[in-house]
Amino acid sequence: MRPIQLYNSLFENFGAQHWWPAANGKNRALEICIGAILTQNTSWKNVEKALAELHRHKMIDIGKISKCNSKKLAALIRSSGYHNQKAKTLKAFCSHLLKNCNGNLGGMLSRSIPELRAELLALHGIGNETADSIILYAAHKPAFVIDAYTKRIAGRLGISSEQNYEKLQGFFESRLEKNAQLFNEFHALLVQFGKEFCKKKPECGECFLNGKCNYYSSSG
Ligand code: SF4
Repeated sequence: MRPIQLYNSLFENFGAQHWWPAANGKNRALEICIGAILTQNTSWKNVEKALAELHRHKMIDIGKISKCNSKKLAALIRSSGYHNQKAKTLKAFCSHLLKNCNGNLGGMLSRSIPELRAELLALHGIGNETADSIILYAAHKPAFVIDAYTKRIAGRLGISSEQNYEKLQGFFESRLEKNAQLFNEFHALLVQFGKEFCKKKPECGECFLNGKCNYYSSSG
């Protein structure tokens, strides 16, 4: 199965996912960046609780996060897990914006993908998946996000068994039109498929792709 065939099957079955989940209003881009940091190693439900707390305290604000006491910020985002580390990352992100971009997130997000990626990866606590989520969902630029669902689904369907982040990203990007809306939808659909069907313990009997799946055909 080719990546575009997988995309088409997922889209046919699930329809548009309208990601990024949540995030509206004037601070949408900042909220997406914050959400991308908070969602590391946790479910979106836990992130929603942390974002609600930040909203309640009017903390979706670069200056306020940057100045906020680390312990206080960690307490506000406690529900997202790893809250001390994530508070440090949020502060590093916002302090960087203030010091090096005059607090202008839009300016930073307007950089080219390689520049923006390098800038994000240099910040404390930001790895490949978080950087690419920010590039794709906050900057609306075509960076294909790889996560555990992508690796698992691609491996089981026989699309690619590559585990290295950049190599698997390159695999998908070289086989798809480099289009931010396509990448946006594809990643969201993979997450949906991974949650509903291709779980750690997969629901192969119910899965609409089981006729095309290496894992299923070899598991007898
Ligand atoms: S058949 Fe099973 S292993 Fe294959 S894609 Fe579907 S859920 Fe995943």
